[in-house]
Amino acid sequence: MTKPPRFHVIQGAPAPDTPVEQVRKRVRAMPKPPAMIQCHRCGGREVIETKIGMLLKDGKPTGGTKTLLCVGCLLRGERVTL
Ligand SMILES: [Zn+2]
Repeated sequence: MTKPPRFHVIQGAPAPDTPVEQVRKRVRAMPKPPAMIQCHRCGGREVIETKIGMLLKDGKPTGGTKTLLCVGCLLRGERVTL
């Protein structure tokens, strides 16, 4: 059995505040651009929202866990969550 790798705390200052580093900082602070939801299996972009484990409260369905399923895969009998 091999030993797990160890990480050492190093002495030193953070990266120097060069123009390049300033750009990196700015980019890190930016909100992520929205990514289009796409099926990782077939590449389809059509989804169905489903809910798992809903409760019936006062005659109305409530709660549950939202799930996104790929329509393309579902039509082929496969359940692919996104
Ligand atoms: Zn799919």
